[in-house]
Amino acid sequence: METRYFETLDIHASLLGFGAMRFPTTPEGKIDRKRSLAMMKEAYEAGVNYFDTAYPYHGGESEPLVGEFLSTLDRSNFYVATKLPQWSVNSIDDAKRIFNEQLIRLQQSYIDFYLIHAIDKKAFDRMVDLGVVDYLEEEQKKGRIKHLGFSFHSIYEDFEYITRFRHWDFIQIQYNYLDTEEQAGDKGYELCTELGIPVIVMEPIKGGSLAGLSPDLEAKLKALDPDASPASFALRWVADHQNVKVILSGMSTEEQVRENLQTFSPYKPLSEKERAVLEEIGSSMRSRIGNDCTGCKYCMPCPFGVDIPGNFAIWNKYRMFNNYEVVKDQWESESSADKRPPACTECGQCIPLCPQHIDIPTDLKRVQEEMEAARIAYYQK
Ligand code: SF4
Ligand code: SF4
Repeated sequence: METRYFETLDIHASLLGFGAMRFPTTPEGKIDRKRSLAMMKEAYEAGVNYFDTAYPYHGGESEPLVGEFLSTLDRSNFYVATKLPQWSVNSIDDAKRIFNEQLIRLQQSYIDFYLIHAIDKKAFDRMVDLGVVDYLEEEQKKGRIKHLGFSFHSIYEDFEYITRFRHWDFIQIQYNYLDTEEQAGDKGYELCTELGIPVIVMEPIKGGSLAGLSPDLEAKLKALDPDASPASFALRWVADHQNVKVILSGMSTEEQVRENLQTFSPYKPLSEKERAVLEEIGSSMRSRIGNDCTGCKYCMPCPFGVDIPGNFAIWNKYRMFNNYEVVKDQWESESSADKRPPACTECGQCIPLCPQHIDIPTDLKRVQEEMEAARIAYYQK
């Protein structure tokens, strides 16, 4: 198993980290405990020593299961990461209560990597104002938190603001060969490198999307290596960034565990040709998008309840992959039915708020037409 050295923290971690957010589940929707425990064991025995969970994963079931597994190991042989659900924190007491509950769930006396979960500028400022960042620093002084960081999914401007606000021990970003211009992206990775902050990467396969490319794009990878999967190429692209210390993969099956272990044992850097083909695939996918929505949410809230960035994200993803299946669950989700384009009254309120100058009501109509055509075609197959 490939390992990486965190120079600033003086630790070695496995380059592949076990993400505990997509465990296999039973027909009732609960974690399949037996399979999940066996998958963690197999990964650990092959050299994986970094386990990443969070308070809300699997409806709160992930932390206790990871804790159950880790309690069987020597404490000096693994690193555990978990996250503070900042959206549930309205006071210092909330932060204290949740952190103490996490220690109990995980059966640990300290957390190696503790993150404020999914912050943007607004959420971070709120954590600072509430005194939560000071509280976490106190826990770090007491040794109950070893390393303090944050995870991030918002826009680059927010990322730079939070990153420069204080010295972070590490930062966790979404990064893959398709998201180089999204969220923190290339600029965020380079900023961390410049500031000497180690990077942990989540969504290296973009939630599984880069494992299932459209047939024309997958053929380009097969021409390079018929035995290598699209997912392994995506992981190697991330691994080629030396300031990436851990790559998290949310593994759902035994096959994924084995394939990921193989990719990193040993990890083979991409050749120039392979890198060029991945860049070509990335730009080809990006050229298929319908509009330039960045998900900044400046247009929100819509007075009629339309989830404007959510609809555009589904549409752009569908177009990039040219595959309805990758967005089927999101598009058909009943809980979001009243947030879809038909709720738009074309009031026009959102149009001047969009920094990308998107004609939002017009594009929402395109979303509806294309997605419904794709849905009908999918079920007629
Ligand atoms: S134009 Fe449509 S999406 Fe925009 S604010 Fe009005 S109803 Fe909402
Ligand atoms: S439509 Fe425009 S304002 Fe709204 S989220 Fe997208 S880019 Fe931002």
